[in-house]
Amino acid sequence: MKFLFCLIFLLLGLGSTFAQNPTIKVLDTDFSKGRLNKTTILTLEDVGKFHGHLCDGLALGFMGLREGLSMLYPDSIIDRTNTRIVSKSSPCITDIAIYLTGARYQYNSFYVSDSIPYLFIVQRKDNSKTIGIKLKPGIKPYAIDSLGKLANDGRLSACELNSLKKLEDEFTQYILQTNPKEIFVLVEITDFNWDPKLSNSFIKTDIINKAKSNCEGKNH
Ligand SMILES: [Zn+2]
Repeated sequence: MKFLFCLIFLLLGLGSTFAQNPTIKVLDTDFSKGRLNKTTILTLEDVGKFHGHLCDGLALGFMGLREGLSMLYPDSIIDRTNTRIVSKSSPCITDIAIYLTGARYQYNSFYVSDSIPYLFIVQRKDNSKTIGIKLKPGIKPYAIDSLGKLANDGRLSACELNSLKKLEDEFTQYILQTNPKEIFVLVEITDFNWDPKLSNSFIKTDIINKAKSNCEGKNH
């Protein structure tokens, strides 16, 4: 019996890089001129297809935003026609922000700012309830940020890039296996000023090393 359970878990995990594939339920209109009655289940893997890969930012964005959105929608169905969001500029964080909330800059429901003291500030439009979401201090391993900075400057070797990927994958696993209440700080913001600014000068950091050679070392 125990073996059977292990086998089922193994088979479920084979389709993805990570065994866990968290979900979130969202509400949308049902056609181009439709009514608000269409529910969809989104998964972390779905966002990975949109974003291009699974990564730690996508995983922590998914888990943190899901917590924040459930505070805005206590029935846990997220209304993607009634939500707007500000996010930090990293490629994963911006992609998870628009994918889960349905927010878009062109409809005044999304903008990017690195001056907010959160990863995301998400707001329910009909009652203006606003939640700031950030990581608790010390949750993200320091090496991921320090090596990440070097990678952004093109200063990591091919094998060092692999080591950084391993650290990020381990952190992703931790995020997916840990109670979000231990990881995130969620704060209700009562005086939030929606102040959209358009900028196209943020750096897309996940393509900086795209031409780097493969690691040929034995220990990586
Ligand atoms: Zn990414």
